[in-house]
Amino acid sequence: MKTNEERLIESIRNIPDFPIPGIQFKDITTLFKDAECLQILSGMMYERYKNKGITKIVGIESRGFIMGPILATKLNAGFIPIRKPGKLPAETIEECYNKEYGTDCVQIHTDAINENDVVLLHDDLLATGGTMKAACNLVKRLNPKRICVNFIFELEGLNGKEIFDKNIEVESILKF
Ligand code: AMP
Repeated sequence: MKTNEERLIESIRNIPDFPIPGIQFKDITTLFKDAECLQILSGMMYERYKNKGITKIVGIESRGFIMGPILATKLNAGFIPIRKPGKLPAETIEECYNKEYGTDCVQIHTDAINENDVVLLHDDLLATGGTMKAACNLVKRLNPKRICVNFIFELEGLNGKEIFDKNIEVESILKF
């Protein structure tokens, strides 16, 4: 009998050399298309965060926009998008960062979060952590009560967790 973790890890497809040579791309769409895997994953995420007082889930464009709103609905929390430059229509703040391949910037609406919020930042995958670190820096500038960070899975060999401040709880549901 397989564990839920094994079932989910097996459902993720590896694409060698995408989008550039040398990258082992973890394609999570194969987990999402399997109804049972999607249920297992959303259940595991809900169990992990149901007692943490989360008021806002912040999802990172674009793969953080899938489980982010699903979890927000289950936790009765709001959902906030962090997006690439030029996409959000109202006043924004911005942070730039290096990633496993290339560089990028992210933005959030300045009125997205307030000092009473307990924020859970969510993305699909932790590689170097650069994207999430920039997202954390954005959210910190809006002064929430507390910040937690969640990934569906992490690539452990890259030690991405180490770049986060020690007072931020960083968790992933699955590890590679
Ligand atoms: P990083 O900032 O290095 O932690 O990169 C994380 C972001 O890039 C996430 O949004 C991932 O979706 C994407 N990403 C980075 N490396 C991979 C990979 N090997 N497979 C799939 N997605 C990746």
